[in-house]
Amino acid sequence: MTTAAVRRALAGLPRTDYEIVVKPLRYRSAPHLAALCDFDGRTILLQVPKPFRPFREVVFHGARRKRGRGMTFTWLSENVAFRSRRDVLRFLYCHEWLHWYLHEELKRGSSAETACDGFALRNFRRQRVTAADADAALARRPHLRRAA
Ligand SMILES: [Zn+2]
Repeated sequence: MTTAAVRRALAGLPRTDYEIVVKPLRYRSAPHLAALCDFDGRTILLQVPKPFRPFREVVFHGARRKRGRGMTFTWLSENVAFRSRRDVLRFLYCHEWLHWYLHEELKRGSSAETACDGFALRNFRRQRVTAADADAALARRPHLRRAA
């Protein structure tokens, strides 16, 4: 994909001061999601399956406490359809952007996979996403909120 095509695909999503690198993902059996937020290299790497064909991937976006006694949780998951390269890029970018936001802007831990997947899932099909959307999502996850 050209730089211009990537920029168009990611239009309306919140900015980062990291470099965004897009590489083809040469998968073995089936297309899947692959990306990385490299804090040391200040790079967000997004991988687009090549050759591209629509695929689905189960995304775990949260956990809900089960009723009754004890700390038992049910994972919340959704089987998400990725119909285009744009879908993949927007989902991966939203996910990695939240890692960046937690690490660089909020100075919080970054190992928040379900939070990042939840944010990506809720937002990757929206035209416009801002840091305020992230703050709203994080408000529901008190352990990730900025210290007052
Ligand atoms: Zn992640």
